[in-house]
Formats: sequence, C-alpha cells, structure tokens
Amino acid sequence: MIRVAVAGAAGRMGGEVVRAVCSERDMELVAAVDRERVGEDSGTVGGGGPNGILIHDRIGETLDATRPEVLVDFTIASASTNMVMAAATRGIRPVIGTSGYGTQERSIIKKELEEQGIGGLLVPNFAIGAILMMMFAEQAAKHFPDFEIIELHHDGKLDAPSGTASRTAERLSMSRVAKPRSFAREKVTLEGARGAELSGVKIHSVRLPGLVAHQEVLFGGPGELLTIRHDSMDRKCFMPGVLLAIRKVLEVKGLVVGLESLL
Ligand code: NAD
Repeated sequence: MIRVAVAGAAGRMGGEVVRAVCSERDMELVAAVDRERVGEDSGTVGGGGPNGILIHDRIGETLDATRPEVLVDFTIASASTNMVMAAATRGIRPVIGTSGYGTQERSIIKKELEEQGIGGLLVPNFAIGAILMMMFAEQAAKHFPDFEIIELHHDGKLDAPSGTASRTAERLSMSRVAKPRSFAREKVTLEGARGAELSGVKIHSVRLPGLVAHQEVLFGGPGELLTIRHDSMDRKCFMPGVLLAIRKVLEVKGLVVGLESLL
C-alpha cells in the first residue's frame, strides 16, 4: 500500500485526488491538508462518501503524525513550495500539480530531493491528451517555426499563463529548427494585445466561466494553418496521470518535470 497525503484537499483538484486515491487498491489516503474546511472529513468535502481522514491545516505536524510516502500537492504557487519542502525534508516524495513554479522554486526543491536521495515529480499537466498534444506540437515545430499558444481556463484559475502553456513554449522553442519571423516591426497600440512572450513564443491566456482547461497551438506557414488542440472537459481527466505519478515517483531520483518520460 502506498501511503498518500493530499495538500489542497478542500480544493477542486485536491477533492478529485482524495476520491481517486481512495478508490485504488494499492493506495491508502493517510492525510489531507488545507487551510479551508479544517476538521471536516476530506471524503465528504471532495464530493464522495466520508473516508475518516479529516482535513488538517498544519502540514509539518500532519506529515509527522501520519508518515505518508507521497505528498500530492494541488494548492497555489505561494503555498506549494512550503508544502513540498515540508515533505521533501522528511523524505516524503512530492507529486506537484500546482502551477506557477519558477526556476528558483524548482532549484530549491531539486537540491533538497538530491540531498535526501529521493525523487519528486513536477507535472504541469496530468491529462494524457495534453501530454500527447505537447508531443505532437513538438513534431510540428520542427517543420513550422512560426507558432503561437492560446490557453483557455475557467475564471477561478489565479495564475497566468498556465503551467502547460509555459512548458509547451519551452519545449517548442527547443524543437524549432528554423528561425521564426521577428516581431520587431510590429506596432502594438494597446498593451498586451500580442500576449506574453516566453522563450520567444507568444502565449495568450483566456479566462472565462464555462471553460475547464484547454489549449491550442497554432502553426502558421505560407497559405496554411495547423491547429493542435486539447480540451479537458472534466477534472477526472487528470486522475489517471496523478495515480501514475504517485506510483512512478517511488522509482525516480531527483526532480523530474512532466509525465512524458514516464508514460
Ligand atoms: P482550488 O483553488 O480549487 O484549490 C486550491 C486549494 O489550496 C484550496 O482548497 C485552498 O484552500 C488551498 N490552499 C491555498 N493556500 C493554502 C495554504 N497556504 N495552506 C493550505 N491550503 C492552501 O484550485 P484547483 O483548481 O484545485 O487548482 C489547484 C492548482 O492546481 C492550481 O495551481 C492549478 O493551476 C493547478 N492545476 C494543475 C493541473 C495539472 O494537471 N498539473 C490541473 C488542474 C489544476
């Protein structure tokens, strides 16, 4: 049995993870952490039946009392590093789903994992379709040097751009074999009209009620346009990837970014 703790257990993703972990035969939910709904049953909060694991708000004390092997974190960027470091310093392997991680936070966690001799996973997108979308887009970037990313999410998403869009931009910029056209001659008359730029790739973020998580990569060539799009309609689509990550994090060493090498 893999002993699992969930941080952000009262949130949308955390609630799904609580339910998913409880339905697996080789996993046991031992702890649930959040600053909201403290003292309530995490199963009930997550929209399922009660599971007897109450939500606590103190990460360190909770980990010491319950000794999980894996901590799954779906909180917010400003809280996530503390959660993950609390786990890593105790030899507990983190599976990080929270987005908004910068290079500094990554290197702090990487160093701690290496010192502890354990593995951790930072996964910008757990949906298998989204991982394939990035892989297919990498193929296309070898032939089309000009592309832009549009990511669309529900209005409750706090960070922009999405972790998936940032990761896609980084990966595609490395796959590009020809030089893209220059943006230098463009005249922008309204700040932000051309989106943000990461690794030389334009990213446009849309936030609207009704959306879940969607991304398209548009590749433009002379007289043609190729669009590679992925839509997450339900948060359930992330769960096979989360469960895979919980199993795989026991095998890896150091910080592994993305699930693609583990599929
Ligand atoms: P949410 O707002 O529903 O849940 C976040 C939870 O974290 C809340 O319950 C909140 O109370 C808790 N939290 C925040 N700060 C805390 C703190 N200091 N201590 C304890 N708990 C704290 O958000 P969500 O939709 O569940 O998304 C969570 C994160 O996961 C976001 O960063 C989102 O972008 C990311 N996400 C990643 C993937 C992926 O595939 N990697 C998929 C969906 C969402």
